[in-house]
Amino acid sequence: MQILDGLHVSQTIKEELKIETAQLISEGKRPPHLAAILVGNNGASETYVGAKVKTCTEIGYKSSMLRLEESITEHKLLEIIDELNHNADVDGILVQLPLPRHISDEKVINEISPSKDVDGFHPVNVGRMVQGLSGFVPATPHGIMLLLEHYKIDTRGMHAVILGRSNIVGRPMSILLSANRNPGNCTVTICHSQTKNLREICLEGDLIVAALGRPEFVKADMVKEGAVIIDVGITRIPDSTKKSGFSLKGDVDFQEVAQKSSYITPVPRGVGPMTIAALMKNTFKAYMTNN
Ligand code: NAP
Repeated sequence: MQILDGLHVSQTIKEELKIETAQLISEGKRPPHLAAILVGNNGASETYVGAKVKTCTEIGYKSSMLRLEESITEHKLLEIIDELNHNADVDGILVQLPLPRHISDEKVINEISPSKDVDGFHPVNVGRMVQGLSGFVPATPHGIMLLLEHYKIDTRGMHAVILGRSNIVGRPMSILLSANRNPGNCTVTICHSQTKNLREICLEGDLIVAALGRPEFVKADMVKEGAVIIDVGITRIPDSTKKSGFSLKGDVDFQEVAQKSSYITPVPRGVGPMTIAALMKNTFKAYMTNN
């Protein structure tokens, strides 16, 4: 069994971006600029946005963090996004989800210019991904593909079983793994809460991507010997032994499943850091495309 070390691979990607950014600056150009919008005070969202902004600084990007009140109107938020769309100094815009209930995720996502949509959630970018055209691929699936590529995992012909059908992870993952490229070329089954015989389907998976948000859902008796396991799940579990008061659990029971797998991502230090690295790659791409 080999650990897919997302932390290490993400550091390699960030180092490459750092060198490319330094090169831009030595040529007298401005660095890439990511604008992140955080609405309200959700603790997990604060952590995620904070990590993205910190990574921008590490690489040498400019970043702007717009903290908005929970009570902001949808109209005002759309106006702010419109301003960022027209700001030539901004390359990438991300709005941290989830948003308060009175704001429509869909309207907000649709408002972001597709050329600055570094999260890859805008329908134009989703459509381009489905058609195999260049655009922005959502950061988590993109990061997973970069990880598979880094470890040269030959996914051709594999049966990939994806647990979860969200627009952020499961659905785009199914598109990328079924595409005619490598990594890719898988035969894909996508499972959700209405799937029957989920255990039997998982047992057929050469590659399992677990993205349910159900801690330690995938057990050893659901996994084929030698399967590749990608654990996307991150759930905060109260833990009085930790300074933060919680520990992070994935959707895979790592202790059990690791012994049966050929490759496996840990939680933390697996998919999480790759998601940030992929976002940084998307931001660089936005800069290069728009300048
Ligand atoms: P989501 O929008 O809640 O989607 C969860 C999916 O899992 C849904 O499709 C749901 O089915 C399915 N599901 C839930 N319980 C199930 C069950 N018992 N059996 C079968 N399917 C079930 O979640 P998400 O945004 O995709 O995120 C999934 C997990 O990944 C979360 O833990 C999240 O925190 C984590 N995540 C991590 C990263 C990272 O960077 N590592 C990034 C994004 C998300 P239905 O559609 O039928 O409801």
